[in-house]
Amino acid sequence: MGIEFEGGSRFFRLFGSSKGTDDSSEAGAEQGEGVAGRSPAHPLNAAHAILMQEISDFLLGNGLSITASNLMAAHSAFSGEDPALARKLLDRRKSGQPITQDWLDQNRTADGLQESVKKIVGALETSLESFSQTTRSAHAAAESYNSQIAQQVSSAPASADPASMVAALEAIASEMIARGNEFASEMQRSEAETQKLRKELEKARHDADVDHLTGLPNRRAFEGLLDRHFREARQEAENLCVAFCDIDHFKRVNDTHGHDTGDRVIRAIADSLARITNDNCHVARQGGEEFVMLFRGKTPQEAFDKLDAVRENFGARHFINRSTEEPMGQITFSGGIADVFAFANPRDALKAADEALYRAKEEGRNRIMLAG
Ligand code: GH3
Ligand code: MG
Ligand code: MG
Repeated sequence: MGIEFEGGSRFFRLFGSSKGTDDSSEAGAEQGEGVAGRSPAHPLNAAHAILMQEISDFLLGNGLSITASNLMAAHSAFSGEDPALARKLLDRRKSGQPITQDWLDQNRTADGLQESVKKIVGALETSLESFSQTTRSAHAAAESYNSQIAQQVSSAPASADPASMVAALEAIASEMIARGNEFASEMQRSEAETQKLRKELEKARHDADVDHLTGLPNRRAFEGLLDRHFREARQEAENLCVAFCDIDHFKRVNDTHGHDTGDRVIRAIADSLARITNDNCHVARQGGEEFVMLFRGKTPQEAFDKLDAVRENFGARHFINRSTEEPMGQITFSGGIADVFAFANPRDALKAADEALYRAKEEGRNRIMLAG
């Protein structure tokens, strides 16, 4: 029950006001003067709202965290359940000394809490702990949660028995857990969004470097490859060759068998050239029915042998027009190779390889020529 306090400050006015539930009379008496020994018939709804406000004011005003156990301690003091703590709080206040967390921990009377209340306090503290762990911006979050809880505390139901307090704390806890879950799923959503964006970006980056018809690197990507291999080969004093290949009389293929069949031939030759590639040998589609290659660590003759073997195999194949089943006869390609380090720069070497290709065409096609 309540205790008589001197001074009647607003802070302690409500001691003893929280017992009983009958609010059927004395409406408007919540500003009540003397509070100790108040009749059970006092209008508790409004009084209790003020009590809850006082509890939150007390905690926030003293810079105490809004933890479940602080709420319970404050409640037990202000409701009159723990008169000893109430007395100590009053004395402390009178002496002008601050009410710190340490002070409160040392002076709260744990016995004043029922077992079930202690349990829920423990559970709440665990929830609080795990909640604050889920939030990445714990500090900023804590401020907003504190004010949220303060709000909830002030609007808690008008009854001060431990069971109601537990219910109020449970409501606070489930609110916090809900917010925690919301936060976690927001994080998941944004994680998924980031993953999606990352994939789209990867695809865009990949698409920018790949020729759609053949799946080979495109000319742009080849420039990058040549740059890198040129630098590395020069540093390691390794050989580096470049080559151009061009399908012979490709116009005829298109004209006789159609553009789609022409595309299939382009893919077939791309596949054949790709079969000899590895980390040090690359092929790219230069455009149309032309391909560009690099051979690192190979002398011009070795590069020639590699490419000439592809040419020979390819020329030996018999293509059939899939739409008409007509034989397409032999399809061949020509090539020109240049030794990169025999020229001032890779661009000049590419030009020389192109000129060698031109000569291969002039000399009858279906052949590979070395530049120089
Ligand atoms: P040459 O032996 O001198 O190289 O004769 P060619 O007929 O191959 O001559 P040219 O290089 O002038 O012709 C290439 C043709 O390739 C012209 C163009 O219509 C065709 N072409 C270019 N790109 C594509 C493509 O993506 N698909 C198909 N089907 N044809 C293409
Ligand atoms: Mg051409
Ligand atoms: Mg051609």
